[in-house]
Amino acid sequence: MKTSERLTRRQLLGVTVTAAAGLAGVTAMAAPAPAAAAFPKLDEKDPQAVALHYVHDAKLVDPKKNPAYKPGHHCANCLQVTGNAGDAWRPCNIFPKKLVSANGWCSVWVQKPGTT
Ligand code: SF4
Repeated sequence: MKTSERLTRRQLLGVTVTAAAGLAGVTAMAAPAPAAAAFPKLDEKDPQAVALHYVHDAKLVDPKKNPAYKPGHHCANCLQVTGNAGDAWRPCNIFPKKLVSANGWCSVWVQKPGTT
């Protein structure tokens, strides 16, 4: 083998690192996304939850402090809730990777079309 055809150590290391990085990327892509049910419940003391006046029980909302709140508003009939209807704890677009109580409420609440 001619000298010009040999891989230098540096070239070999570069090929190895590139291959390893590519393999790691493929592995990461193949890993399943965590199931929503695996997300932790939102803490009412979470700074974002506090800022948006989130509570686990909408019946505890103070209407004087939150005049937009009306009885019957809760996470289960909010436009931002996702997941399965009927689940007690569900994902919410406003609090990524956390679960909110179906009976909860926050100041972002907007009526989900088709709900009462
Ligand atoms: S945005 Fe809607 S579903 Fe999410 S916490 Fe607020 S009221 Fe509940």
